This record gives sequence, structure tokens and C-alpha cells, in this order.
Amino acid sequence: MTTHKAHCLILPFPGQGHINPMLQFSKRLQSKRVKITIATTKSFLKTMQELPTSVSIEAISDGYDDGGFHQAETFVAYITRFKEVGSDTLCHLIQKLANSGCPVNCIVYDPFLPWAVEVAKNFGLISAAFFTQNCAVDNIYYHVHKGVIKLPPTQNDEEILIPGFSSSIDASDVPSFVISPEAERIIEMLGNQFSNLDKVDWVLINSFYELEKEVIDYMSKIYPIKTIGPTIPSMYLDKRLHEDKEYGLSVFKPMTNECLNWLNHQPINSVVYVSFGSITNLEAEQMEELAWGLKNSNNNFLWVVRSTEESKLPKNFLEELTIEKGLVVSWCPQLQVLEHESIECFLTHCGWNSTLEAICLGVPMVTMPQWSDQPTNAKLVKDVWEMGVKAKQDEKGIVRREVIEECIKLVMEEEKGKLIRENAKKWKEMARNAVDEGGSSDKNIEEFVSKLMTISP
Ligand code: UDP
Repeated sequence: MTTHKAHCLILPFPGQGHINPMLQFSKRLQSKRVKITIATTKSFLKTMQELPTSVSIEAISDGYDDGGFHQAETFVAYITRFKEVGSDTLCHLIQKLANSGCPVNCIVYDPFLPWAVEVAKNFGLISAAFFTQNCAVDNIYYHVHKGVIKLPPTQNDEEILIPGFSSSIDASDVPSFVISPEAERIIEMLGNQFSNLDKVDWVLINSFYELEKEVIDYMSKIYPIKTIGPTIPSMYLDKRLHEDKEYGLSVFKPMTNECLNWLNHQPINSVVYVSFGSITNLEAEQMEELAWGLKNSNNNFLWVVRSTEESKLPKNFLEELTIEKGLVVSWCPQLQVLEHESIECFLTHCGWNSTLEAICLGVPMVTMPQWSDQPTNAKLVKDVWEMGVKAKQDEKGIVRREVIEECIKLVMEEEKGKLIRENAKKWKEMARNAVDEGGSSDKNIEEFVSKLMTISP
């Protein structure tokens, strides 16, 4: 039987893209003899397809037990009520766990819920903020919050100088929340992520040092930053954890057998995998361009079209699509797909989880960012890591079918794409090394655990 000397309470924001990286980090802590309890909301638990069995999960309340943030009138109303009810129910949980034989001694919280620091301080616990996005994006939000970057810019092609970056970036490459004036309240919430950071013991970032050296060195002078990623299941990286088939949490049911059977019949390095993640919606015109771009390309494709997006597919597209050319599914086991030997290219919206997964599995990308942090991630993929291209939008904001075709061809076939394909292999190796024994993230996790152990009762 494992005897634990430390107990971490993990508090993610209730969203798949937030809870999964924290779950994978939890598994690494657990393998180093730290007891883990994940606290999430009752409403979020109800939406999960399957719950992991390897870590303990407890429910707290955000004040909207039936529908979570969908039930709240506005996102700000949701966050405000979550703070009130969440603090209370989190305190009850900590008291309950105090009698469990191994009391909580640390809270690892999502900075969307900065009130967790007050709860930790009241109980005399260590606190660590866990940023699920990369350091470059956090750095941009930080400087907007501090008023160092004056936004929104006057023109989309305006160049913006951001401290911590060696070169300026275009306004179109910063997170959409920063440049859209109507998103002022969201940017306030994103800025609030930094509100309690001067009181925390650690700031953990879901990235790895080699990927973002420059900006990590810069931010480390401001906060006690430790990179602990990539937070991809160990079975896809260093294979040091004894994991079962449990990859992560999902609100959608993957069509695993359909996808894997189809991929097994495809030649090696021949398929384009296409997905826009769990929340991004495309305009109908964009869906149509994408559909024809994929159909006209030389390559076969596996395309995830969530059921709520299906009605935007061109008329008769599915009926006329032959199974040899392409497969459209409502959800897939993305890591298994990216790992499959038939996959050669990922056409992605560049959500941070998807981007990290492509890096870890060495799959070159065609990026089609839509909103949020996606434009910044796409910029990094193309210009800094040089492991993909960006499919350019026209003046209406639509990527046309010819552009999609051209980008896929460049990444998969042409001489010009050779460097991209080689870099993809290089980053895959670096990602594995970071979490493998003695790697940059592994050392940071070891240091974190040692500190927890020394302050344990
Ligand atoms: N994903 C999946 N199956 C799919 C599409 C996506 O499992 O068919 C997973 C993917 O592996 C990633 C997450 O959903 O972990 C999407 O997160 P990301 O940050 O990329 O995008 P978001 O959904 O937050 O926009």
C-alpha cells in the first residue's frame, strides 16, 4: 500500500481543456507518492462521459449545480457566484479531508479561480497557480493587465512590442480577447488571473522550457515559474507511468473503433487529420470551403465535425463522400489518431491542448486559428517552432479551398515542407526529454514534490 506524505487538492476551472492538463499533472504527482484529490463542480461532473478511476474526485459547487456556466446569465455572473459558493464548499471539503488520515497541504488551482489563494492562506496551505496555456500567451495577458500593452490596436496589421519577446508581433497574432473591444469583461477576467500571484508559492505552466526559453526566462524574473509540461499522458511520451486506457476526461463520446479501423486501412504518412476542438464553431461558408478543400486535395482525410456543426456541411457532401477518400466523425480519440502511423498532417484550430499534442506526437500542422489564444499559438507553430504553416484568410476572414489544398500539399509533399517535417520530429524528441527522468519539467516536478514533502505533517 502506498503511504502518502503530502496531499494536493487540485482545483481546475470546469472545462475539458482545463481539467485534462491538471489531471495529467496529478498523475505525475501521484506517481511520486503525493495523494491527489481533484475538486470540480457538480454540474461539470454530470457532463463527463467517464470518470477516471486512478485519482479521487470530489464535488464542490459553483452555485449553478444544474447547468454550470450555461445556466448563468453572463460569464461574469458565473465567475462571481462561483467565487462565493465555491470558496465555501471548498472550505468544507478541506475540513472533510482533514479527517481522512492525510490532510491537504497544498492547493493547485486554475488562475481563473484566484480566490483559491485566500482559501489556501486561511488554512495555512501552500498554493500553486496552474496556467493551462503556454507562457507566451500568459505573458501577453500579463502585460495587457499591467497596462504595458495598450490595446486594442488601431489597425490589424499594427506591430506590437511585447516585453519578453525578441521581435514584435502583428495585432492579428495576439489572443482575440485582447483585440476585440466587446470582450473587455473577459480580458478583465483574464487579467484577474494575476491578481493573487504575488501571494502564491509556485506558478506552474503547461509548457516545457526548451519550447519557450526566452519568454520563460523573462517571466521567471517576475513570478516563481516552473514549467511542468507537456501534460500529455505518459504513455505517449516517456512511458514511465503505468497507465491504463484512461487518457483523460471528455464531454463527447469518441467513435474510436470507426476511426482506428479506417486509419488501419490507410497507407503510412498519407492522411490529413482535421479538428477544431471542443468549442470553436465555424461559419457555414468556412465549413463549405474546408469541405471542398479537403475533397479536392490529393490526400485522404479524417475530419471531426461535432454534431452541432454537421448542418453546416455542404448539401450532399456526406452522401457523395466515398469511404476511400474521407471519414467524418463527431468525435475521435485524438491522441490515438495523432499517434497513428497513417497520419502525416494535422489541420488544427490551434487550441493549446491540440497544439501540444501535435508537438508531442511529431505531427506537422496546417493552422486555421479562429479566436482566443489560437492566433498566438499558430504564430508560434509557424514562425518560432517552424513546424507548420498558417492557412491565410481572405479579407472576409475566410480561408478559401485553394489555400487549404495548397497548405496541405506544402506540409505533406513538397520540398519546402521538408524542414517542417524534420522540425516536427525534433520537437517530439524534445517534448519527451522534458518529462523523462532528469528532463527540465521532470526536475521541476521533483522540486515541487520535495517542497511538499518537507512541509508535510
Ligand atoms: N479532442 C478529442 N477528440 C476530438 C477532438 C478533440 O479528444 O475529436 C481533444 C483533444 O485531444 C484536446 C481537446 O479535445 O485535448 C481540445 O482541446 P484544445 O485546447 O485543443 O481546444 P478547445 O477544445 O479548448 O478549443
